[in-house]
Amino acid sequence: MANYELTIAHLYGNLMNTYGDNGNLLMLKYVAKKLGITCHTEIVSIHEPFDPDKYDLVFFGGGQDFEQLIISKDIQEKKEALTNYIENNGVMLAICGGYQLLGHYYMGANGEKIQGISALDHYTLSQENNRFIGDIVIHNEEFDETYYGFENHNGRTFLGEGERPLGKVVQGQGNNGEDKSEGVIYKNVYGSYFHGPILARNEHLAERLIRLSLEQRYGKDLDLPTLQEALA
Ligand code: GLN
Repeated sequence: MANYELTIAHLYGNLMNTYGDNGNLLMLKYVAKKLGITCHTEIVSIHEPFDPDKYDLVFFGGGQDFEQLIISKDIQEKKEALTNYIENNGVMLAICGGYQLLGHYYMGANGEKIQGISALDHYTLSQENNRFIGDIVIHNEEFDETYYGFENHNGRTFLGEGERPLGKVVQGQGNNGEDKSEGVIYKNVYGSYFHGPILARNEHLAERLIRLSLEQRYGKDLDLPTLQEALA
């Protein structure tokens, strides 16, 4: 079996971690280990440059409006590098607050505009005295996969050009409570409001992200077992 290596950037990993989102990183490491992949992880945080050529996968967790405001200033310094990474088919998983910051802006609960990096074309509005809280189930028709999670967000996100939802809402509110969309797929960027953490409850998605990441570095013809085979 080939000896593949995977380098993961944990974007603002010391600041963005609501509802145990860091568990996504543990899950990526676990799945990588089971598939025989050597995995390195690094936090890239405030005042640290993001090198788009260094990473195979980026994970960006969720956060409160407070942390998001702080990060929204710093992330402008990384805007060009992150946009390059995304446009060059870099693989990324962004949850809730992280997902919001990849878009144009998020109107925070206090009415302040929290600027994103406009790498993706969505924008996020707030809700007055309300949050979407509860269990959520969505279905992705393209992969014929169902994802399970927990959502807790003030933001209502509306997708834009080139963006398709991660799934259709079966139970819960999703992106905005109106159009039955949840999350986003844009190129190799996956965004979602799912906590739980999403990957711990949806191992197919973890496997998909790892495969996609390896394909970017080693090409499509991977010598890799499926997760199901590796766990058998
Ligand atoms: N602060 C944002 C909101 O309430 C994101 C929340 C989160 O990441 N859980 O919509």
